[in-house]
Amino acid sequence: MSIFTKFNAILEKRQQLEMLGIDPFGIQVEKMNSPTEGIIRGRKTILAGTNNYLGLTFDKDCLDAAYNALEFEGTGTTGSRMANGSYSGHRNLELELAAFYQKRDCIVFSTGYLANLGMLSTLAGPDDTVILDADCHASIYDGCRLGGTKTLRFRHNDPEHLAKRLQRLGDKASEALIVVEGIYSMLGDHALLNEFIAVKREYGGYLFVDEAHSLGVLGERGSGLAEELGVLDDIDFIVGTFSKSLGAAGGYCVSNHPELDLIRYSSRPYIFTASPSPSTIATTRAALVKVAEGKDLRARLHYNARRLHAGLSALGYTLGAPASPVVAVVFKDKMEVLTFWDNLLEMGGYTNLMIPPATPNGAFLIRCSVSAAHTDQQIDTICDIFATLGKKLQLQLRAS
Ligand code: PMP
Repeated sequence: MSIFTKFNAILEKRQQLEMLGIDPFGIQVEKMNSPTEGIIRGRKTILAGTNNYLGLTFDKDCLDAAYNALEFEGTGTTGSRMANGSYSGHRNLELELAAFYQKRDCIVFSTGYLANLGMLSTLAGPDDTVILDADCHASIYDGCRLGGTKTLRFRHNDPEHLAKRLQRLGDKASEALIVVEGIYSMLGDHALLNEFIAVKREYGGYLFVDEAHSLGVLGERGSGLAEELGVLDDIDFIVGTFSKSLGAAGGYCVSNHPELDLIRYSSRPYIFTASPSPSTIATTRAALVKVAEGKDLRARLHYNARRLHAGLSALGYTLGAPASPVVAVVFKDKMEVLTFWDNLLEMGGYTNLMIPPATPNGAFLIRCSVSAAHTDQQIDTICDIFATLGKKLQLQLRAS
């Protein structure tokens, strides 16, 4: 026994992949040609697994904002938000995000992961209860763990199960923190937010929504599912990330609760890590303007999502949810999904391989994410590759 013995199971899995000559977790993009095309394994590849929903990573205004910040504010803040790493850009971005959501205030964190960690670990302690959707992201689970809080799960997108959980809490239900996401990252399905709000109205509790994958994607101004459904006022805490539609890295939480500001003084993932660099903040601020004004980009994104979804569905593939910018294709088993993913990459299509334990219900998925920057031709090429591989690998597809 050594401290490394616990890695034996992972080692075995790594060796199995090595024997197959497949390394899905070590992919490097050698060169970026555009938001939707890169060079991988020396080959021009369509990027259909990036979460770059609005394609803003090469937007001229966002790049200019970043260049400008680099020149005038330097490469990094070299400190945490609490100590020496809050520049006026950080605070301005907080005010802009609060205004964007029409909420009282906002806290910016260094990543989306840290936003969940920082908020949940501080809001919910050992005497509190968090009730979360079973399919919530790892950062939500980790935040609960760091806070040492009691965690209960309800079945994915099942408001009745949530109601049962709250009912059992009795008097404590009104203080429980209910956590869901806007669009779920693996299958691309939407939370039944109206139904969850109805349950919250009946039993009490606070509603915390992670809009990581719905920011920029849903709602007239692109702020997410709560805006799209007209229920922003019913949400206590909205968390999100700069790393998807905003094309940068960082995270935030907005809320009307005046106590939000107090989180800063007790949240370890806020206090003990360096703040986002000035160029990251500057490009995020520029991208937020694009998101708010991005009706046309959103229309294009949803058109592309429908095109890919319809194309793959017509080929007989089983898809995880109705059309959304995350299009997840369900495979039979690990071998099938690994082989498919690797062949797809060899043919010039980059997607995300998703296998248990990262997936809901132990599913084997090829997760495509669509961008507003994809051309019709790129979407059609991805569909063509799926068609070719379906035949080559003799997959059992639905009759179309
Ligand atoms: N929440 C959800 C739902 C996510 O999918 C992710 C990242 N995939 C995060 C939070 C973490 O965001 P980041 O990558 O910006 O740290």
